[in-house]
This record gives sequence, C-alpha cells and structure tokens, in this order.
Amino acid sequence: MNSKTQQDETREVTQQPSQAPTTTPHIVIVGGGFGGLQAAKELGKQPVQVTIIDHNNFHLFQPMLYQVATAGLSPSNISNPIRAILEKQQNTGTLMAEVTGIDLDAQQVLMGDRQTLHYDYLVLATGATSNYFGHPEWQQLAPGLKSINDALEVRRTVLSAFEAAEREPDEQKRRALLTFLLVGGGPTGVELAGAIAELVHQSLKGDFRHIDPSMTRIVLVQGPKRILPSFPNSLAQQASKKLKQAGVEIKTGEHVKEVRN
Ligand SMILES: Cc1cc2nc3c(=O)[nH]c(=O)nc-3n(C[C@H](O)[C@H](O)[C@H](O)COP(=O)(O)OP(=O)(O)OC[C@H]3O[C@@H](n4cnc5c(N)ncnc54)[C@H](O)[C@@H]3O)c2cc1C
Repeated sequence: MNSKTQQDETREVTQQPSQAPTTTPHIVIVGGGFGGLQAAKELGKQPVQVTIIDHNNFHLFQPMLYQVATAGLSPSNISNPIRAILEKQQNTGTLMAEVTGIDLDAQQVLMGDRQTLHYDYLVLATGATSNYFGHPEWQQLAPGLKSINDALEVRRTVLSAFEAAEREPDEQKRRALLTFLLVGGGPTGVELAGAIAELVHQSLKGDFRHIDPSMTRIVLVQGPKRILPSFPNSLAQQASKKLKQAGVEIKTGEHVKEVRN
C-alpha cells in the first residue's frame, strides 16, 4: 500500500448517516472475507458505525475454489453479495473499492480513485497471498488459487488440455497433455488432485472420441514425508488412501527444484 500523496486532490467519502451522533465511533473494516465479515457481524449490535470495504462486492467462499477450478461448481455458487449478507445490520455500510493505502496520522483509508474515508478504528482483514516457498518465478507458470479469476484460469488450463489431447495425433504428446503434476500436498493440492480425479473418472466420462480421460495421469509431489503435514497422521493416511484409490500417484519426500515450461 502507498503512503498518502497529493492530499489536496483526494475526496472524503461520507459514510455516517446524517442522523448519527457525531460521537458514534466509525469502524472501517478492509476485506469482506471470513475475517472481515465476522468482525462486521460481531459489531452489528454495538453502538458503532461500521463500513466494510472490499475490492469485490461479494464474499468469496475460498474453500470451494477448487471445485470451480475443476468445473464442479460455477463462480456464482461460491460468491455471495456482501450487502446481502449484511443487509439486516442497520449500522453497517458496504463500499466496493480498492484500498491503496492508510494515512495513519489523518486516520484515513485511501482508495483507488483518490477518495478517502475517515476511521476511528481500523480492521485490516485483507487475507493472504500464495506462498511459492522461495520460488516466486513459478507464479508465472502456475497461478495461485485464491480468487475466482485464479480458479477460472486453472479450469481453462485443465479443460484446454483435454481438448488439445483430443486433436493431438502423436501418442507421446497426447500422454504429456494428459499428465497433471501438482506441487504441494497441503489441503489445496490434495483437494485439487482429488477433484481432477473426479473430473476424469466421472464428469468427462464418455465425452471424447479419441482420448480416454480416465487414462489421465495425476501426480501429487510433496516435499515432506507425508501429505497434509498440518493434519493428524490418521487423516493424512486416509486422504492418501482415497487419492490412490482414485488413481492419483503420490510422491512424498520429493522437493521440486526447478519448473520448465
Ligand atoms: C483453495 C482454498 C481452500 C481452502 N480450504 C479451507 C478449508 O477447507 N477450511 C478452512 O478452514 N479454510 C480453508 N481455506 C482457508 C480460508 O479460506 C482462509 O483462511 C480464509 O479465507 C481467510 O479469510 P480472511 O478473511 O483472512 O481472508 P480472505 O478470505 O482472503 O479475504 C480477504 C478479503 O480482502 C479483500 N481485499 C484484499 N486486499 C484488498 C484491498 N487492497 N482493498 C480492498 N479489498 C481487499 C479481498 O477481496 C477479500 O475479499 C482455504 C483457502 C483456499 C485458498
């Protein structure tokens, strides 16, 4: 985020209703994810004025992104308008805007189009970014899975591979197109591997004439000795068993050092 510049050109956005006593504290929450929404809900019955700002006007249910990425769900299934979620909260307003900075001295949130919003208290709930574990260059080759756009990009890539394979006369190239390698056996990698397996064995069954989607190779590579290291071993074992039954190859204790396009 940038520090405030060209203050004279900024425009203050008023969020306090005209009847609200000026002593009512104004709480600005940046981010309408689980964190921001929970904070807004907790403040719903308090004697405060709340403004929630997000660069999307919808809350995204991130845990189901992998289903959008594998065409099991559409984006609208996992997005809910923030205004609809909070419509009964009379003390809460919603703004769709990109927050570009915070002026701590003036207690103002800075927004994309040089608008500002004064706050008495500020909650920053802007989420996290994907961790490429020291390989930021991999982001170009494999986008994260944090937004609808990311999920649609993965979906386009996955489905396009089957289309290209259907047209490909060369057996070896066809096999390459039908090989999916997932680096990282945490929850996202595990869920995505399982969803691709479901896609090839169920959703795409019988759809193609020159390829058999069930012959797709799905490989999950994990650096540590087991998948899902943040979960109890028994759960990881169970997930591992299910994935193998679904045809996923799991390679643990393997650190990917380089990715070439
Ligand atoms: C693929 C996937 C699967 C997951 N599965 C599970 C699961 O099964 N169980 C589980 O408990 N957790 C799961 N998680 C984790 C869970 O989704 C996150 O922990 C949770 O979404 C974090 O909530 P948050 O409010 O901190 O951030 P987010 O949900 O990321 O929300 C941040 C919000 O801030 C907004 N924002 C960011 N920057 C700005 C800005 N500059 N201006 C305006 N708005 C901004 C964003 O648009 C977003 O709406 C999963 C995550 C992913 C990605």
